[in-house]
Amino acid sequence: MTIGEEILRRLRTQYRIQAEEYVSLYTHLQSRDPFRVLVATILSQNTTDKAALNALKTLERDVGLTPPAILEAGKRRVEKAIHIAGMYRSKARFILEVSRIVMERYGGDMWNVLKGDAEGVRERLMSMPGVGGKTADVLLATLGIARTVPVDTHVRRVSARLGLVDEGASYETIRKRLEEVFSPDSRHLAHLLLIAHGRNVCRARKPMCRECVLNDLCKYYREIRKNQL
Ligand code: SF4
Repeated sequence: MTIGEEILRRLRTQYRIQAEEYVSLYTHLQSRDPFRVLVATILSQNTTDKAALNALKTLERDVGLTPPAILEAGKRRVEKAIHIAGMYRSKARFILEVSRIVMERYGGDMWNVLKGDAEGVRERLMSMPGVGGKTADVLLATLGIARTVPVDTHVRRVSARLGLVDEGASYETIRKRLEEVFSPDSRHLAHLLLIAHGRNVCRARKPMCRECVLNDLCKYYREIRKNQL
C-alpha cells in the first residue's frame, strides 16, 4: 500500500463527506451547472464554505445565477447580495467580469469554456479575473474534468505537517507532489478528506495530534515528540 492509499484509508474511517460542507461540490450536485460552481468557488475564496453558500443563495434569490442576470443587476446589487462572503467588492467585480467574458466570448454558455483538454481549459480559466490555480482546480476536479488535488489552506497545512511537501512550497509544487502521492481516481477525495482533517483535527492552532489517526506517519508529530524527550 502506498503512503497516499494509507492516508486515505485512515481518513475514510474518520470522516463522511457531507456535500453541504463543501460549497463547490454541493453546488455541482444540486445544479450540474458549471457557471454556478465557478461563482460558488469564487465566493469561497478566503472565507468559510458556509458563508460562501449563504452568499450564493442570496445571490440566486436577489439577482439570479446566470451571466445575463448578473450583468443586468450590476455591481451594487451583486455586492449587496454577496456581502456576507467578505471581500465582496472584489468578488463582485470578478463575478461580473467572468459573466461578461462568458457572454461575449462563449455565447453565454460556460460549457463552451470547458471544451478541450484539461490543461488548456485550466489556462483559459486562469486567464479570467479572480480565477487563480486553486479556483480553476476546484472547478475542474469537482466537475471531473481534471484529476487533481486542489490546494487550499487546509490541504497545504496538513500536507506540510505530514511531511509530504515542504513548508512554503509554491501552489504548483504542492499540487504536483500530491498528484504523485494520490492516484488519479482518489485525488478529489484526497482533497476533500484533507480539508475535513484540517478543519477537525489538524487545525492551524493546536492540532489534536494525540487523537490523530495519522500521527505515526507525521513529521510534525515526530518533531514535537523528539523535542519533548
Ligand atoms: S499528527 Fe498532528 S500535525 Fe500530524 S496530521 Fe495529525 S493533527 Fe496534523
